[in-house]
Amino acid sequence: MVGINVFREKLQQLSARSLLRTLAPLESATGANVQYRGREVILLSSNDYLGLSNHPEVVRAAITATEQYGVGSGASRLVSGTLPPHTHLETTLARFKGTEAALLFGAGYIANLGIIPTLIESGGLILADRLCHASVIDACRLSRADFRVFRHGDCNHVESLLRRRTTDRPTLIITEGVFSMDGDLAPLPDLVSLAERYGATVYVDDAHGTGIMGATGRGTVEHFGLERRIPFHMGTLSKALGSHGAFLVGPKDLVQYMINVTRPFMFATALPPAVAAASSAALTVIDQEPERRARLWTNRQRFFDGLKNLGCRLTPTASPILPILIGDAAAASSFAERLLSLGVYATAIRPPTVPDGTSRIRFTVTSEHTTDQIDEALDALRIVIRETGLV
Ligand SMILES: *Cc1c(COP(=O)(O)O)cnc(C)c1O
Repeated sequence: MVGINVFREKLQQLSARSLLRTLAPLESATGANVQYRGREVILLSSNDYLGLSNHPEVVRAAITATEQYGVGSGASRLVSGTLPPHTHLETTLARFKGTEAALLFGAGYIANLGIIPTLIESGGLILADRLCHASVIDACRLSRADFRVFRHGDCNHVESLLRRRTTDRPTLIITEGVFSMDGDLAPLPDLVSLAERYGATVYVDDAHGTGIMGATGRGTVEHFGLERRIPFHMGTLSKALGSHGAFLVGPKDLVQYMINVTRPFMFATALPPAVAAASSAALTVIDQEPERRARLWTNRQRFFDGLKNLGCRLTPTASPILPILIGDAAAASSFAERLLSLGVYATAIRPPTVPDGTSRIRFTVTSEHTTDQIDEALDALRIVIRETGLV
């Protein structure tokens, strides 16, 4: 057993570098405004883009499913944990995304850990965008394939790595649809063209695109009109769908194979029925209430324009993720603290979530924010910018 003092020292080291993390417990449900540290604040840090986690029909579906099927699923999917809400959600997801089949996972993190090593094995090559989510990076390490990162969104770099392959080996190009910490979109049309030209396959993690991107909220693949050229992709139920879990959508042979070999699918208990039922209800709401998406993008534009007016240094975002770059981790932390003191909750994102020297305040707007809340947040931001001289 390692001496407990080791961890105290390690914590002190993190603290000295302004990289210490602590939990930040809310005292209410999530939403446009929340109770935090004893007061009401405007929340600009949630991925619940469409406010679906508290939508009456989504909540009702979870309650009904719990009453009908209980809280836990009782087993993994392959044993006896496949209940009607799971089957229904997979059918609904496949229809929503326009694929033959869908497969549920316990979380986005777990989905990547399972799917990526299944898609590519020893002897293969993975090219992953440098800014891909930690779960993608961990999955690449877990697969036995060789693994290179390419410069963020840089198709020339991808092409040079593809050219450099000595043999015609299986190659997987991994990207996010909407990048979670920068809010920009992958150059998907160019990546797909490269993949087609060089005999590679594109894997899209559309955690942040699903539900909000594209004319009907199908995601980043719809946004770019690439449904026929990207036959499968991964997404989560935990962001715009306001629920929990993740999925792969694609051809039924691929899904059937995953069911047979993908360990995080095989050896984990099925999602709670309530969560599956809530996700299905959320997909219905997305189709029935397109005004939520419209409100989201209106709010996003208002906040984006406000940030521009304040002279903020923004990432090249094209989504409701609106990060302002600060750079130094300590400066980002104190910036967030000061914003909070003015009633605005927006998290400082520091390494290792983002590369060194790119600490930032990552704002996310939702359909549920009012115009007044957005303007109030911008007013608070104006004050902090003036005080700190930052941005
Ligand atoms: C949030 C996120 C995940 C993880 O999904 P969870 O459902 O939270 O485990 C994976 N990939 C990306 C790009 C994400 O933003």
